[in-house]
Amino acid sequence: MKEQLEALLNDALAEFAKASTEAELQDLRVKYLGKKGLVTTSMKGLGALSPEERPAMGQVVNTVKAKLEEVLETRGAEVREASKAVRLAAEKVDVTLPGRRRPLGSKHPITLVTEEICSIFGALGFAVAEGPEVEHDFYNFEALNFPKDHPARDMQDTFFVGDNVLLRTHTSPVQIRTMLKQQPPVRIIAPGTVYRCDSDATHSPMFHQIEGLMVDKGITFGDLKGILTLFINQLFGKDIGVRLRPSFFPFTEPSAEVDIACVICRGKGCRVCKETGWLEILGAGMVDPAVYGHVGYDAEQYTGFAFGMGIERIAMLKYGIADMRLLFENDLRFLKQF
Ligand SMILES: [Zn+2]
Repeated sequence: MKEQLEALLNDALAEFAKASTEAELQDLRVKYLGKKGLVTTSMKGLGALSPEERPAMGQVVNTVKAKLEEVLETRGAEVREASKAVRLAAEKVDVTLPGRRRPLGSKHPITLVTEEICSIFGALGFAVAEGPEVEHDFYNFEALNFPKDHPARDMQDTFFVGDNVLLRTHTSPVQIRTMLKQQPPVRIIAPGTVYRCDSDATHSPMFHQIEGLMVDKGITFGDLKGILTLFINQLFGKDIGVRLRPSFFPFTEPSAEVDIACVICRGKGCRVCKETGWLEILGAGMVDPAVYGHVGYDAEQYTGFAFGMGIERIAMLKYGIADMRLLFENDLRFLKQF
């Protein structure tokens, strides 16, 4: 019987050594030490021994049991340690790997150009002013010297919302709203969205303008030309040519269109400038005294100038964008380039 138990012990130790998980060890514990386990059943053999032999054999069985318990304990700890090491290796984070960047959006070219224009005029002391996009006829036309039957209203196809209420066709109503609120000196720049009833390859029913107004004592056409030339040189470069041509707007007198030397061909003549070498970028003029009458300014005391430009056109020229529709399609492949 002693030999049997020793063989049993050796088998058990060999199996314990091979087990690699806690579940396997648990099965082995049941196999050897469980109620119906091999060691337990071998104890039943004690009954067949003589009373003299029994205590010695009982001791051997207890030693085997104790030895198995001890080894199971150690192996259990080893297996737990090993599986922990495996788990840690699997969960290991390489802190030296570069992080995953979240895709970062960029500002729309219209926003970029608007901000740049506002910052150039901001440095010249112009404050940003804003007004509503749904306007009264009075601010959009009447006070800007477009009487009801004035043919100049045809220059701007208007979306009407109701009687005398419309989507503003230009940012100029902000001039009126500002002048009604404050006395000169006035120095504002007014960016915003405007609406006109036309849509083709070069026109969109919704577009953006930026408007400027300066009113004070002794403002002359020379100030207008000086400030606009300085602005254009900051936006398009120091050596860009600037010229003024006579024009007409109901709310300025005299009025001028401002051209810059073509940014594509530098004045030599190309498709973009229609071989003229010049690009029209803004309209300007001295505020018509009739406008001062609508806002309660003394036309004898104050003079001033106003100017306005389409932001889409400036953005297209500045960034070399050939088709205006690109600015409204919001294709991320396009927008990401700015
Ligand atoms: Zn050109």
